[in-house]
Amino acid sequence: MTERVLDWRNRRAWLRAIPRYASLILTPHVRKRLEHARPDCWSDVMDWLPNHEELVPAFCEALWGYYTHAKGFHGCRPESLSSYFESGLKGQAVERILTKFHKIYADVPSELRQRAIERMHQRGISERGCTWLSSDDRKMIEQHGHYIIHGSEYLMALAARMSDGERWGEDYRLRLRQIGIPTILEVNIPVALIPDAQKREVGKMILSEWGQLRARKPLRMSSAPCYVVKHDIPAECIKTHYHPAQIIDFHTDLGAYVNKSLTCELCRQV
Ligand SMILES: [Zn+2]
Repeated sequence: MTERVLDWRNRRAWLRAIPRYASLILTPHVRKRLEHARPDCWSDVMDWLPNHEELVPAFCEALWGYYTHAKGFHGCRPESLSSYFESGLKGQAVERILTKFHKIYADVPSELRQRAIERMHQRGISERGCTWLSSDDRKMIEQHGHYIIHGSEYLMALAARMSDGERWGEDYRLRLRQIGIPTILEVNIPVALIPDAQKREVGKMILSEWGQLRARKPLRMSSAPCYVVKHDIPAECIKTHYHPAQIIDFHTDLGAYVNKSLTCELCRQV
């Protein structure tokens, strides 16, 4: 089966593809209504689209019947990359993170560590098995690069909770910057692994962009969807990886984090 990948960064391509799967839904009649009425075509409130209760679900079904995969980028800071390319991306497992946590912070009093673990307990349950991916690697570097700078957000949150209330104590999160290699994995996520609510969100975002063009009324919003996958992602879905040289850093006053680890064991094999 041919792979058709929805790459959010390539706006022109996904706009051009719309007539291939949705011409029976976004009919000339619908188009004319928008061209005439020129509404604000927001993605969160869809009442600008005629008969939206039926058209939105029909469009989402057609969209995700057309694409086989969505491109996603996973930011991480692994000590070794080979396991990703051998066993794929494993969803979040608190046990694995805690092993690392105790190793990195072995010198921190155990009651502080335990307090942080207890505070994070509920979140650990709700996030079990999840993998976070952004649809745009440039936006990830600019807006939520902490995954790349520190690695696991859960580990970072545990570290932050040990410092609570100690303004002049060590910022334990910064230790995470000394372990592993800042990395972005490029993944083609099979559509079957994307939760329905996220598929609907992406469908509405595409409809919004399409509507703005028809109405000739750009809303100048620039957003990119995120995917939270609750399954392991097979190794063959990971297409490539790279190590960004600079990442916007919101946790220090320096502005940008400069990454000096630009190659890993896999880069050197090529
Ligand atoms: Zn590498």
